Amino acid sequence: MTRSIFFFVVLAFLAFAAVWLADYPGTVQLTWGGYVVETSIVVVAALTLVFAVIVAFLYRFWVWMKRGPGRIGAVFTARRREKGLEALSSGMVAIAAGDAIEARRQAIEAEKHLSGEPMTLLLAAQAAELNEDDRAARIYYDRMIERDDTEFLGLRGLINRARKETDPEKAISLAKRADELRPGTAWVLKELYELAVETRNWEMADRTLSRMTRGKAAKGAAVVRAKSVISYERALALKNKGQEADALSLAITSHDLDPTFVPAAILAVNLTAKMESPRKLSKLVADSWKKAPHRDLAEAIRTIQSGEQPPDWFRRAQQTVAVNNPDHLETHLMLAKAALASRDWGPAREHLMKAIDKAPAASMYYLLAELEEKANADAIAAREWILKSAAAPQDPLWICNSCGRQEEIWESHCTACGQFDSFTWRTADRGPQVQEMIEAEVVQEISEIEQG
Ligand SMILES: [Zn+2]
Repeated sequence: MTRSIFFFVVLAFLAFAAVWLADYPGTVQLTWGGYVVETSIVVVAALTLVFAVIVAFLYRFWVWMKRGPGRIGAVFTARRREKGLEALSSGMVAIAAGDAIEARRQAIEAEKHLSGEPMTLLLAAQAAELNEDDRAARIYYDRMIERDDTEFLGLRGLINRARKETDPEKAISLAKRADELRPGTAWVLKELYELAVETRNWEMADRTLSRMTRGKAAKGAAVVRAKSVISYERALALKNKGQEADALSLAITSHDLDPTFVPAAILAVNLTAKMESPRKLSKLVADSWKKAPHRDLAEAIRTIQSGEQPPDWFRRAQQTVAVNNPDHLETHLMLAKAALASRDWGPAREHLMKAIDKAPAASMYYLLAELEEKANADAIAAREWILKSAAAPQDPLWICNSCGRQEEIWESHCTACGQFDSFTWRTADRGPQVQEMIEAEVVQEISEIEQG
């Protein structure tokens, strides 16, 4: 309102001035150098007015530009950013959808508009991974670890790359750097632990597992078992270096953590026999037989007394070992073998039959055959037992739960599939068809023997 009133006032003034000038005409003469310009006062007034308007307009434009530097640039930057963000989000969607080509296209687009942004680098690296372009992925991760805000993320990518390339040492050094940057991050600890186990760096595995347990990243029976296995491996390493006292203490730790872990019980028994009092040894023997009766443990307990005669071992086995777990399959098997060696045929047969009652296995029939030959010189009966042994279930072995590989001696890593702590003591399954076939053959052969 005020503006329009002001505008009319100015207009009225101009009209009044024009009329007034028309009423009082005059001329203006300008002489400059060799030129003479002569014009009416009205023209001069009009020119002055136009000049003033142009100057005022130019002044306002200058002020506008001065107050907002980069105003025009800003418009273009915002547009570019918008395009970059669009490419980023489309690229992430393509990655999630597994669309490698689209992911790469959007990564290039994002790089064009948002070069140097952390997310752009991440998208480019992920797109390269999806396209199985190892070289490009590594280049992007290398660029990421050069920047503070993306170093941690870049390390994760490089660790995965190193693991894919089966370069555990490199992966460890990268994981250690990641651990320095953000100590205690769950995935970093998990990587460090797995790498330590893989490279048999048992000290590091133990330390890392303890940190994981403190941080609640790992807990429960699986952790206790892993600690037991790791302590056992550390004990074994120390024993091989001749540090038997430290080895013993770790073997006991391992046995205490998982009393059913047979290798630890055996190692603890062997080291205790060498270093500790007989009282401690008999306590350990009793305890381990109660919790981890096993034919290898029986053998370890037998051999701790060097030069012992078979009847003496049979007596010791009955009096100090068997009493701790009298009706276990392994107890009967241990006593049967000891009685056989000691030529005590009656108890040998009795324990073998009890063992077969519990869980028949090929080796028990072999022992019966041996018994028939030694005790009665009965070759035919012996042959029958040997044939029966073929049809009997196989003896248990350490079998890998992951790939089925069979080992006589427990190993921390499966040599076939590389799995850690995958062996359990069990019987391999022949499958019903094979079993039927073998049984039919055995029946046939035995009837042939009996017929003459
Ligand atoms: Zn395996």
